[in-house]
Amino acid sequence: MDRVFLGVDIGGTKCAVTLGTPDGAILDRLAMPTQAETGPAAIMERLISLAHELTASSGHPIAGIGISCGGPLDTRTGMVYSPPNLPGWEGIPVRSMFEDAFAGLPVVIENDANATAVAEWKWGAGRGARNMVYLTQGTGIGGGLILDGRLYRGTNDLAGEVGHQTILPEGPLCGCGKRGCLEALASGPAIARLARESLHYRRGQRLVELAGGRPADITARHVVEAAREGDSFSRAILEEAGTYMGIGLANIIQILNPERIVLGTIAVHAGDLILNAIRRTVAERAWERAYSVCEIVPAALGDRAQDLAAIAIIESAANDRR
Ligand SMILES: [Zn+2]
Repeated sequence: MDRVFLGVDIGGTKCAVTLGTPDGAILDRLAMPTQAETGPAAIMERLISLAHELTASSGHPIAGIGISCGGPLDTRTGMVYSPPNLPGWEGIPVRSMFEDAFAGLPVVIENDANATAVAEWKWGAGRGARNMVYLTQGTGIGGGLILDGRLYRGTNDLAGEVGHQTILPEGPLCGCGKRGCLEALASGPAIARLARESLHYRRGQRLVELAGGRPADITARHVVEAAREGDSFSRAILEEAGTYMGIGLANIIQILNPERIVLGTIAVHAGDLILNAIRRTVAERAWERAYSVCEIVPAALGDRAQDLAAIAIIESAANDRR
């Protein structure tokens, strides 16, 4: 039987373990709610026993383990340092816990945005590119850089944190503590805030309806849904967020000269309703010679992205070793 990899995805609301092949097929999978309030020791114990359960029943020899987890984390020591979605995980040796539980197997850990970048590059919308930038535009804006055919991590694993470039010097406060970051202007929560703050008499009524009549409950999903129905107020909100994204992408294009930028989450759901504003702004702000060689496309892996992210990083590491 061919070798398979064990992928481990650690998220704030759910965790999953996956068996995948070197060409990105998922053979089997088990998931569990994270229950973040139970703390790292209890979560890791449940996760490792879930991984044992999956591998025991598989019948395939396991060639290695890839762990995808929210950062900040240190890929050399395998330590995780308080990801925003996992309170209390301050200095947890996640990699060595898996090394101890699966003695003899190689284990690698990567932050989830980097890991998803590798998965999209291997098996999704980044296939075939030598220089590719991946951005998630969801709860936050994260990213991963594939440069010259490799994941680029920077000096201490912080390369690709594209969501925290300054777009508006006096802009809204970001979750990171700075002002006017791209994430504070174009993430899911930022789009919802933009919509809530722009509501006024007879505008945005459809959006309020979708939120059950409660403006405070408006989410980015409602904005995309109303925009899809043709609601002009919601379309204008996506245009504004798309303009900020476009400024951010123009900066990236000027610095890295990529051939492809892959956008996850909102761009996948909203399509041209946000991509048109992004592409138009990039064309206004980046050099023509740079943006004319750069495709801006939605991500392709959909629901499988998280599982494949963990498989992709151990598959890459195994290839590097050979
Ligand atoms: Zn920030």
